Formats: sequence, structure tokens, C-alpha cells
Amino acid sequence: METIKSYKVPINAPKDLIKAYFEIKKKTLNEILKHINYSKHGKAHLKFGREDRRRLRNKLLKNWEYAKHYVDSAINSVISLVKSWITLHNKGRAKKPPSITRKTVYIKTTLFKVKDNKIRITIKPRQYLEVDLSKFSYLPKDYDRIGGLILQENKLIITFKKNVEVKNVKDCASFDANLTNVTGYINGRIVRYDLRKLYHIHRVYEEKRRRIQKLDKTKPKTSKRLMEKYSRREWNRARDIMHKLTTGIARMLTSLNHGVILEDLKNIKERTLRKGKDFNRKISKWNARTFQYMLEYKLRWLGLPVKYVNPAYSSQTCPLCSGRLTAYGGRLMKCTRCGFIWDRDVVAVLNLRMRGLRGCPERGRGIHEQGSVDADAPQSLHRQIKAYAG
Ligand SMILES: [Zn+2]
Repeated sequence: METIKSYKVPINAPKDLIKAYFEIKKKTLNEILKHINYSKHGKAHLKFGREDRRRLRNKLLKNWEYAKHYVDSAINSVISLVKSWITLHNKGRAKKPPSITRKTVYIKTTLFKVKDNKIRITIKPRQYLEVDLSKFSYLPKDYDRIGGLILQENKLIITFKKNVEVKNVKDCASFDANLTNVTGYINGRIVRYDLRKLYHIHRVYEEKRRRIQKLDKTKPKTSKRLMEKYSRREWNRARDIMHKLTTGIARMLTSLNHGVILEDLKNIKERTLRKGKDFNRKISKWNARTFQYMLEYKLRWLGLPVKYVNPAYSSQTCPLCSGRLTAYGGRLMKCTRCGFIWDRDVVAVLNLRMRGLRGCPERGRGIHEQGSVDADAPQSLHRQIKAYAG
């Protein structure tokens, strides 16, 4: 299985190339939009054949001083932009016509070479931009190859690729990320990672934004600049905390040889919409998505399986007797059948584990090798739950 990891490195990009590329993308878009036909029911359809492409390419190559591959890459990226717009449009979900907004250059593999840990990007014929990867200690060294690059004004985004065999794991941990913590069930224990520091950061920046908003009328430009600056800092700090947490968990799961069970967030609405305040809901959602996203790609890179299970009712079902849980003040829930009092987050990870265990690990024999662990799992889990409860 191929896995990928993307990293940013700071660089001084050739501004003239970025500008020229932005311009030809806009020209390309104007040209391609002329090739959209609409049916009488208003459905869009792109008719842009090989001959149209050749003509457009020749037109764009006039006075083009950079490597020719950039023109091809611009045409390709605009075509895929238009195609995804058409899909949206035909579903009735496109609000605005497509436009080119971001000044990014996609550099396909034909435009660079990797040698001695250095990337050499062709800008013009015989003019190169060299990026020495050994200068950035945080970049992975255990990769097989480098995929496409994305060039922006002050950074280069590098995609590393690696072929990984999914390991036969001994067991799976389960995690649930919330507004103020990540709760996990790891190797028979409930573990809780505090996210209150992260929550506090968001609160501080929320307060800053409120103050900046007062400048909106008198100094709109300053207000906008400050908003952007603070919001960039806020999310950088938040991402930083999540990176540290998920890297730590990935390391621990590697040493335990455990996979992971997470909740399928497609159904996130069911659980978060009832959680009150917009601000908290937004943070809670971001925490859950970012935690999963980061943990998943880190584990896949290490060959550990990641499994998603449907969380429906997982916060309302008693892990001991499957009875219905009702609110019992604060974060607590009480079982209407057996009377057990639970912590809400603990209920979620235990139920995720029960649901996910049957199919985890994803591939190979894993836990099945130890005999009929599959059938015993719920029982041994019950023993562990009782140990936790006691
Ligand atoms: Zn119960």
C-alpha cells in the first residue's frame, strides 16, 4: 500500500514564475470556460478535445520563457478545476463560476530531480532552484520517492511517498477527541489527554478578535491584517499541539504494535449539533477531524491499521449491558438498565472498541492467531471495564 506525508519547507520562490503561472492559469480558464456546453436542462458538459488542447498550448507557449512543462501542468490543473466545478454544478451545488484565486504552482515529477537529498527544480531551460532537504531535520528520511511539489511564494510543499506493508497487530486502541480532551482505550487502560491548553489558546484569540473587530469601521485595513495574523498564529499553535500529541500516540502504538479504531465522522452531526455554542462546536469539530487526520497518516506511514466505525448511539449505549444511557449531570451518564454511572467520553471509546474489534486488524491474521480471541473479546473487555469501574 502506498502512503504519503506532506511537509512544508520555507524557501524563496522565483516570484516571476509564480506570477506568470498565475496569469496563464487565468487565460486557460477563460479559454476552457468557452468549451462548456449546457443541455436544455441546464446540465454542464465540457467538450475540450485533443485539438483544442494543442491549439491552447501553442497559444500559451508564445512568449513563454519558462520550462514548457509548466504550461501543461497549468492546463491540467485548470481542466480538473473545471471538471470538479461541473460535477458540483450538475448537482445544483455550485454557487459561483470557477475562478483562479491561489498563487500556487504545481510542479510535476517531470520538472524536478532528487539527488543526494537535494531537489533540483527546473525553472527555465538551464535555470534551476535547488532545495537542500538535509537542512530540514524534521523531514522524513524513510521515504521511497517524492511525488509532486507545490510551490508558493514563501514555501514549498513536498509530498513524500512510501510503500508500506500493513502489519499484523496484536490489538487495537480506540480514541475519541472532544472539546477539552482526547480519551483513549489503550492496552486495557483508559487514558486521557488534556486539551484544555488548546481550548484556552482559542479563547485567548477569540478575545483578541473581538477587540480587533472594533477597529473594523475606523481602520478596516489594519483590522483585516491583524485578523489574518492572529488567526494564522492561532491555528499554527493549535496544529502544533495536535502534532505533538498524535506523534506521541503513534510512537506508543508502534512500540505496542497496536492499530487504531476511530469513529467515522461522517455522522459527526448527530453528536455535535446538540453541543451548544457555535464557538465550542467549531473547536470540537476541528479537534476531532484534525486528531484523526494526523493520527491516521502517521500510523499508515508506520504500517499500522486504522479502522473507522459508525458511532451512531455510541454515546447513549451502556458498554456493560447495552442499556440506554441518560444524562446524569455534567459529563456523567447513567444506565437505565443496570444503573452504572459512566463518564461520557469513556462510554464513547469503549463502544468504539466493541464495534471495531471484530474487524480489527484490517488485514492478515493479527489477533486471530491467538485462537478465538474474536469471540472472547467482548468478555475480556467486560472484565477490563469492571476493573476500570472498580
Ligand atoms: Zn448498563
